[in-house]
Amino acid sequence: MTHQIAAVSAQEILDSRSRPTLSVAVDLVGGAAGTAGVPSGASTGSREAVELRDGDPGRFGGEGVLGAVANVNGEIATALDGRSFECLADLDRALCDLDGTDTKGRLGANAIVGVSMAAARAMATAGQVPLHEWLAPAGVQPRLPVPCFNVINGGRHAANALQPQEFMICPIGVPSFAEALRAGAEIYAALRSRLGASGLAIGLGDEGGFAPELHTIEHALDLIVDAIGDAGYSTGTDGVAIALDPAASEFCNENGTYQLSLDDPALTGSELIDRWENLIGRYPIWSIEDGLDEGDDDGWKLLTTRLGDRIQLVGDDNFVTNPAIITDAIAGGIANAALIKLNQVGTVTETLAAMAVCREAGYAQMISHRSGETTDAFIADLAVATGCGQIKSGAPARGERVAKYNRLLAIERDNPGLGFGLAR
Ligand code: PGA
Ligand code: ZN
Repeated sequence: MTHQIAAVSAQEILDSRSRPTLSVAVDLVGGAAGTAGVPSGASTGSREAVELRDGDPGRFGGEGVLGAVANVNGEIATALDGRSFECLADLDRALCDLDGTDTKGRLGANAIVGVSMAAARAMATAGQVPLHEWLAPAGVQPRLPVPCFNVINGGRHAANALQPQEFMICPIGVPSFAEALRAGAEIYAALRSRLGASGLAIGLGDEGGFAPELHTIEHALDLIVDAIGDAGYSTGTDGVAIALDPAASEFCNENGTYQLSLDDPALTGSELIDRWENLIGRYPIWSIEDGLDEGDDDGWKLLTTRLGDRIQLVGDDNFVTNPAIITDAIAGGIANAALIKLNQVGTVTETLAAMAVCREAGYAQMISHRSGETTDAFIADLAVATGCGQIKSGAPARGERVAKYNRLLAIERDNPGLGFGLAR
């Protein structure tokens, strides 16, 4: 089916952290239209596609995106208006060619990913199929993913002293997405009660998880295990398991050691792996993302050798959803899973390519939101379409987080035949 572009436009809007981002619209000749809200990270990998910010201190502290908006309304619209595309891959290639850099830094990855997502929606609408059907790669069985709810926030997403960024609960052992969402909400409520009863703050971090003033990983994990029990669930992969995203690049010192706690001495990479090994022996942890710094390839190989047959090891800051980088990492024996974020690489087509690389190598994939979000639920459809089996979209709270989970609920209701759970 050929799609002819009628109009492309963008506007500066606010994200969930009150920072500017883009809302993008693509209209096709014939009337189909699509919009997209662009996400934005805080603990970003150094090789991510480059987000364009204005840097004008007089507006939003320099965080404005009027330049990126102008690139959509100007150069991109001029290049695309009236042009016909056979498929999204052709349109995404045209965007990359127009930008002309390896990083998408000229027009802005935030501008480009917004156009790519909105165009995907418009094309799905033109084809009169839901986005999750339209995005499905040939030969892939769509599936509802296990949601990984970030219930305690630390690191760059909260003002507390807790260094690890995300403590997630993953209801792997329940029979449906709706039951998983219910488990997430019930455990979240139980955790709130536990925190309150302990005199701990119940204020929220950027991804909707609680951000209490905890000083040790064990304290956070004990609270979560207790809350899972309080809510009537069992812990582990046949019940509710725990996933961590320490985002270790954020507490890696210049000399390559890790400051996991401000009270304790810095750890070497191998000592940090010991620490993770010790924790997975004592707690129902089944997945660790960014357990080491993004540049510590030797450490990652050691981590994978030592723990890769016991838990899922997810590359985020080191992989940045980049098909070429992930291909090299797979060849190098680094990790056994990848986090997948559209705006890290900058187009829907390249995101699907990164996922295909993982699928072919037997690497697991977790689709992810960013800490700065809009109510756009594109990633819910993407997770179902690719059958990847896992999604993280923050806590089961706050509108921009639950928009994705509620979209998955609707897809489950409308498609009773879809399977649920980790990819097999
Ligand atoms: P970010 O964090 O969106 O702030 O980069 C998410 C993550 O590290 O997974
Ligand atoms: Zn991460």
